[in-house]
Amino acid sequence: MPSKSPRCPLCGKARDAEFKPFCSRGCRDRDLLNWFGEGYRVPADQAPDGTADEDRFDEG
Ligand SMILES: [Zn+2]
Repeated sequence: MPSKSPRCPLCGKARDAEFKPFCSRGCRDRDLLNWFGEGYRVPADQAPDGTADEDRFDEG
């Protein structure tokens, strides 16, 4: 088995030319979601004064 064949970085299957470097649209979308997920999380967790809106929803 040739070990140099390009493979999907997410699941390791043979990549598809249409969705490279991934094997399918599913893996490509998953990678995008991962990026977006991190991008939205970072600024939300870094509140300047620590007064995030989420804190207002505490029980009480
Ligand atoms: Zn894949």
